[in-house]
Amino acid sequence: MIDQFDCVIPFHLEKSNIRGRLVRLDELMRDIIKHHNYPALVNYYLAEATTLSVAVVSCFKFEGLFTLQITGNGPLNLLVVDINKEGHVRACAKFDQEKIKSLDEAGDKNMRHLFGEGHFAFTLEPEQEDTRYQGIVELMGANLADATHHFFRQSEQLETGIVLASSEGVTEATLASSALMIQRLPLPTHISIDLKEQLDDEWIHAMSLVGSMTKKELLDRQLSNEDLLYRLFWENGVRVHEPKTYISQCRCSSSKIQHMLMSFSALELKDMVMDDKINVTCEFCGRQYEFGENEIVKS
Ligand SMILES: [Zn+2]
Repeated sequence: MIDQFDCVIPFHLEKSNIRGRLVRLDELMRDIIKHHNYPALVNYYLAEATTLSVAVVSCFKFEGLFTLQITGNGPLNLLVVDINKEGHVRACAKFDQEKIKSLDEAGDKNMRHLFGEGHFAFTLEPEQEDTRYQGIVELMGANLADATHHFFRQSEQLETGIVLASSEGVTEATLASSALMIQRLPLPTHISIDLKEQLDDEWIHAMSLVGSMTKKELLDRQLSNEDLLYRLFWENGVRVHEPKTYISQCRCSSSKIQHMLMSFSALELKDMVMDDKINVTCEFCGRQYEFGENEIVKS
C-alpha cells in the first residue's frame, strides 16, 4: 500500500517533534490534465496546486469539502482545486491564452508573472455545519511553495516546509507531480532550554533535508515512496502511517447544473438559449449538458 501512487502518506519523525506528508500523483493528475486542453505552463501550476491540496487537506480532521483557490489579475487569473470527503479531486483554471503562450515561449514560470497581484485561499466547508472556514492571504513569492510558506506563517498555523515538483508535459517516464511537506508540532509546555534548542536544531535540519530533495528524485517512478522517505529521514526514526487514496472525479450532475441555471434571471437564461436549447459544459471535467428551454422555466 505504501508504494502506491495517487495517495497521501502521513509520517512522523519519532526523534523529533515533526510530522509530514508525502504525495506522489500519477493517474489522478494525468486524468485531470486530460479533461482540459490547457497549455503546458497552466498544467504545470494545475499539477502543483492539486498536489499541494492533497497534502494540505489530509492535515485537517474534518469531513466536508476542501477548496484551494488562487486568483490574480495576471494571465492566469483563476486556479481552483477541490476535494470532497470521499477523496474525489477536481481542478480547473481560467487564463488568457495569448499571454500564457508568450510566457511559455520565454520559459518564464515565475508565479507572480502568471498570476500578477492576487490571493491564495484555503476553504473548509464541513458537511455537518453551516460554518465555513477560510484562510486567505496575499499571493507572495516566485512559486507555489513560497506562497504556501507565506500562508502558514500568516495564518499562525504550524511552521511548515514544503517542496513541490511537477513534470514538464505528460510523460510516462516520470510521475506527474509530487509534494513533500513537514510541519513542526507545538512544543510541550514545560520544556527545558536544552530540549528546546535540540528540537529547534532538529527542525532546521529536517527543513534542510526537505530542501535537498531534487525534482528528479520526487518524480522518479523507480524510487519507491518508502525508499524516498527512509533515504531522507533514516536518522530521525521515520514512522509511516496508513496512506489515504485519492481519485480524479468530478461531482457535476444534470440536476446540479439545472439547479445552478435556475439561479439566473429569465433574461439571462434567454441569452443562453441557442436553437431552443441551453448547453452547459462543466469547467472541471468538460462534460456537456443540454437542457430544453422549457426544462429551465422561470415562473
Ligand atoms: Zn464535471
